[in-house]
Amino acid sequence: MILILGGGLAGLSTAYYLRHLLPGVPRLVLEKEPVPGGLSRSRRVDGFTFDFTGHYLHLRDPETTAFVEELTGGRMMQVERRAYIHSQGARLDFPYQANLHGLPPALVAKMLLDFVEAAKSPLPARPEELPFGEWARRVFGDGIAEGFMIPYNTKLFGCAPDELTAEWVSWAVPRPDLAQVVHGALGLKNAGMGYNPRFRYPQEGGIGILAEALAERVGDDLRCGASVVSIDARERRVVLQGGEVLPFEAVVSTLPLPYLLQRVRGIDGCPGLGMTLAEMAGALRWSAVIDLELGVDRPGIADGAHWIYFPDPELPFYRVGFPSNVARSLAPAGCSSLSVEFFHRPGTPLPPTDSLVAQARAGLEAAGILRSADRIVCAEAALLDPAYVLFDPRRTPTVEAAMRRLNGAGIRSIGRFGAWTYSYMERALLDGRDAAAAIAAERLA
Ligand SMILES: Cc1cc2nc3c(=O)[nH]c(=O)nc-3n(C[C@H](O)[C@H](O)[C@H](O)COP(=O)(O)OP(=O)(O)OC[C@H]3O[C@@H](n4cnc5c(N)ncnc54)[C@H](O)[C@@H]3O)c2cc1C
Repeated sequence: MILILGGGLAGLSTAYYLRHLLPGVPRLVLEKEPVPGGLSRSRRVDGFTFDFTGHYLHLRDPETTAFVEELTGGRMMQVERRAYIHSQGARLDFPYQANLHGLPPALVAKMLLDFVEAAKSPLPARPEELPFGEWARRVFGDGIAEGFMIPYNTKLFGCAPDELTAEWVSWAVPRPDLAQVVHGALGLKNAGMGYNPRFRYPQEGGIGILAEALAERVGDDLRCGASVVSIDARERRVVLQGGEVLPFEAVVSTLPLPYLLQRVRGIDGCPGLGMTLAEMAGALRWSAVIDLELGVDRPGIADGAHWIYFPDPELPFYRVGFPSNVARSLAPAGCSSLSVEFFHRPGTPLPPTDSLVAQARAGLEAAGILRSADRIVCAEAALLDPAYVLFDPRRTPTVEAAMRRLNGAGIRSIGRFGAWTYSYMERALLDGRDAAAAIAAERLA
């Protein structure tokens, strides 16, 4: 039996590919929730369809694109991104650094001069090792760093950006050249920058239709309501909450890496690093997110924006999405939906929905998104914990040591939280494919 721990996209994809590569070998996905899909599932409430914050598909790999199209049978549409930044009362196009027009002119002038000044000093050979705040100052200059990069990431990650390294930014943060920064400062458009200028999203049903279609293909190989509490690598068995024991010959885990490290039995710490598995788990940091999904009794909210980033510290949320502006079907006629994201300290409980709604409402009115007459007709709060892996200087050596240890014991740890990285839905599908291929190659060798 091959056990797959977690039924998000990575776990479901592993089971799907195993079914094709090793058809005679039994496999089982164990998912603790009553439904599969993990972060990429959707729920339907009072005529609204809510995802767990905006989940938009950025497909780069032709094989995954074909796979997703085949799974969802032509139900995906292509969407041109409409993303903005709300700062100092102005709405700027995304990305901030290439669209400064709209900010106070004296500030824009300082940002341009600082950008030019920063470009005079070359970056070190391994810029990803710089503290994030310093990286932002050296790449964009102090003005842009202080206007957006530093305050936004402080809000998102809940720590000083210099506690983090710049390792995660390489694909996520667009790097305009001087001409683009000058054009953007003068109000000339820099369209299509960054990793997500276009994305795919279902016309109906929310992002969850992808995981639902995959779960259908996985069929009986999926068991929901099965929470894994320990994995014994020596005895080769998994224990579920309630005491049931399941033997395995191979295991693929998509559980959060710190959780896995705390629950693996039968392997020692990593002598090279001088850390036990529990100590490795303790060295990994992350942030949680509160996802507050709102339904409002007014159509066409936020002038059609898909999402807006909020770097200013006075507003309590760091990003607000407008899902019904992406797919009209996500809200009933005459209504709009909003997805309000707040940083949250990991391991602390979700505050009552009423207090979150009150905070969100005050901030949304201050930002000119909600009007006092708007009625919130539906509110659903969820805690995403973990949500973002923190790339601090200990993260990469710890993850590498942990992976060597786990792989040596026959445990593959994949997916956003299994690999303990900053990744996305396409990567989760590819992780599953690659894990299945590696298991098949081992067995057929
Ligand atoms: C705020 C936010 C916004 C995002 N937006 C996007 C986006 O726009 N586009 C994009 O491509 N990606 C986005 N992502 C990333 C995307 O959600 C993930 O990359 C993807 O869903 C990860 O899939 P996964 O299977 O690796 O993990 P998960 O979806 O976390 O699946 C892991 C599964 O394991 C289960 N599990 C946990 N513990 C146990 C246990 N003890 N026993 C059994 N089961 C357990 C969980 O219930 C879950 O179903 C976003 C992520 C966040 C946090």
